[in-house]
Amino acid sequence: MTSVVTNRTALTFYGGVNEIGGNKILLQDHDTRVFFDFGMSFSARKQFYSPPFLSPKNEKSLQELGILPIINGVYNFDPTPPEADAFFVSHGHLDHAGYLSFIKREIPVFCGETTEIILRTLSDTRRADLEFNVADIKFNVFRTGTKIQVDNIVVEPLHVDHSIPGAYGFLIYTSNGTIVYTGDFRDHGHKPEMTDEFVEKAQDSEPVAVVTEATNMTGATVSNEVEVEAKLDKIASQVDGIMLAEFGYSDIDRLNTFYRIARKHQRCLAVSVRQAYLLDALRSDVHLQVPALDDDGIMVFRKSKKRYDKWEKQLIERLNVENKTFDVFDVSKQQCRVILAVSFYDFEELINLQPAAGSCYVLSASEPFNEEMEIDYERLINWLSHYGLPQYHVHVSGHMMPLQLKAVLEKMRAEEVFPIHTENAQLFKKFMGKVDSQVQIVEKGREYLL
Ligand SMILES: [Zn+2]
Ligand SMILES: [Zn+2]
Repeated sequence: MTSVVTNRTALTFYGGVNEIGGNKILLQDHDTRVFFDFGMSFSARKQFYSPPFLSPKNEKSLQELGILPIINGVYNFDPTPPEADAFFVSHGHLDHAGYLSFIKREIPVFCGETTEIILRTLSDTRRADLEFNVADIKFNVFRTGTKIQVDNIVVEPLHVDHSIPGAYGFLIYTSNGTIVYTGDFRDHGHKPEMTDEFVEKAQDSEPVAVVTEATNMTGATVSNEVEVEAKLDKIASQVDGIMLAEFGYSDIDRLNTFYRIARKHQRCLAVSVRQAYLLDALRSDVHLQVPALDDDGIMVFRKSKKRYDKWEKQLIERLNVENKTFDVFDVSKQQCRVILAVSFYDFEELINLQPAAGSCYVLSASEPFNEEMEIDYERLINWLSHYGLPQYHVHVSGHMMPLQLKAVLEKMRAEEVFPIHTENAQLFKKFMGKVDSQVQIVEKGREYLL
């Protein structure tokens, strides 16, 4: 190890600072160096690039523009020996895991079992590119409560509820006390008890520092997944034509909600081939509840394409045997029997679909920014207007709301709180007021000694 040996514990934030996502947190304890998350910075990337027309050519471009931080001894394009002992990944969203693509393959990566499945399927279903290529990473998987020792420190992952299955927070036992990292979490999903358990254990560990997400400082709402389901139920009970539903590809809780609503109203939920591929892979995870592809309430929608990738072709062939796929013309003939999962990028299909009068479009994802998609609103509205489709926005965030977050942090009573994954750290600090903890306004790349 060539890094400077100190007797103290330090945190350095290389991403997630003044931005939602892109978390890259280095924890050093004596000579142990461990990263928590290594995500893609969507906002930094968006300032310079607009794929597919303007994409980064190589890592040099990303480093030049400050999108990929300069850190010695962690990247696969850097010939020097490794200077990190491990990477821990909180969950499978790309703003937390995407830039694992660049790391040296000999440094161990730890993640939840579900996260491995999600990242593997993502890797199978999109063409490997510079910024997402994890196919040759060997993941070391954990489940909640596993204690993992990495030299000086012990890491305990604990499940939390978030808008993707298999999300974790971490308790990190260092030589200067326990550090809590929340990852992305919420207490208004379908499994609030997971988050409660995490908070309780974090509280019991009497942490010296908490690194917390503080995403929802300006867009807070009072709602939960149960309410989302009730609203979707109401829409489904009245809609005459097709119900188009846009939701996050890996938001399995929301997919399950749409599935239940479809069943209740004698419709089927038609998912994309890519979603079907993920569902099929997640079936191997016994801790998750996902509908099977041969379920009567599930159909798979084949987009009109000239050429299918190998994985698509194989899955479609398998599903065709059971009559489980349909194309836009099949859907068009039975609009009142279908909830069709769509993405804005599928809207070209509407031309052959010809939505019947009384159809509607339900946006069940955040706006205008989501960890997985950026929607071009003006164009979206033009398409909806052209086909007479009213837009309903039925959604609840994957992130903790301000008052709940404050209550959680007051319980934990850490000496220091580091808000990240937010554009509103100052607002958060003022909002927290004079609690027992000191709220640090994090600067990118600065080392914080504990
Ligand atoms: Zn995130
Ligand atoms: Zn997330």
